[in-house]
Amino acid sequence: MPQITTVTITQGTPEAPIRTLHVTAEVIAPGLAITPAIDKDNGLTGGWTVTHMPSGHIVMPVDPCIGCIRYAARHLTEADLDWTRDMDALRADEAVRQAAHDFAYDAEGCDSADCGITGLVPQAA
Ligand SMILES: [Zn+2]
Repeated sequence: MPQITTVTITQGTPEAPIRTLHVTAEVIAPGLAITPAIDKDNGLTGGWTVTHMPSGHIVMPVDPCIGCIRYAARHLTEADLDWTRDMDALRADEAVRQAAHDFAYDAEGCDSADCGITGLVPQAA
């Protein structure tokens, strides 16, 4: 069963956060959670993203459907990476950058308004 928690999203840089938001999240690994994707006007995009819980920053700017984010996130959770490290340590890790690239590639394959990948949204006849 997915573990639900609350995560504080930080938008902006770690040195100069613009704002924080508290959102419901699904924990997928120590330090990582699936969270609603938020646009620049504080609105829900309708998609999902993955947030690094210790910093509150998203891993990559993606917002696919829930099925596709869970599928794409396997690149992050199955790579034997320690996501509880701080952002500086993660940014310096080539394996993290590769996992994040593969994650984003899969996530960007989804058009969350009419996803044909997971089949969660019925296709037009
Ligand atoms: Zn999708």
